[in-house]
Amino acid sequence: MKLNEPITKTTNSDLETIEFGKEIAAYLEPGDILCLDGDLGAGKTHFVKGIAAGLNIDPTKVNSPTFTLVHEYRGNLPVYHFDAYRIKSIAEALQIGTEDYLYGEGISLIEWPSNIKELIPESAVNVKIDKIDANKRTFHITKM
Ligand code: ADP
Ligand code: MG
Repeated sequence: MKLNEPITKTTNSDLETIEFGKEIAAYLEPGDILCLDGDLGAGKTHFVKGIAAGLNIDPTKVNSPTFTLVHEYRGNLPVYHFDAYRIKSIAEALQIGTEDYLYGEGISLIEWPSNIKELIPESAVNVKIDKIDANKRTFHITKM
């Protein structure tokens, strides 16, 4: 990811988060991994919708892959959207081919990355999302 210095951004609605995701999509390069770190309802999935839209993927097709662990979308670049919320073990993550995705040529976007932290390379970018109030979220994008 073309990230020369950390990015901080506050959004005031889910639509603004989607717009922000679209802007961030322009910085992405094949093989990038973004860890989306925030509580339930922080806006991780909305941010993914925005990145998807920025890569010419229909954002209405993006929803949390809670039961399948990963969804794959094809746009200007392949997007691998992980949700590790329900993952039971690293073995389970390996079995679905997580490493092939992470070391592939697509963009990996990971909800609940702490549940598979052993598998995440140091080159990953951290996106920390803080819930400020009902409609306000602050994003901090940094190298790990
Ligand atoms: P997560 O994937 O982190 O659990 P979602 O993106 O699925 O979060 O949901 C975020 C929820 O918060 C949605 O109901 C959305 O409408 C709401 N919301 C309110 N304000 C914002 C904001 N600024 N950015 C993103 N979502 C917001
Ligand atoms: Mg989600």
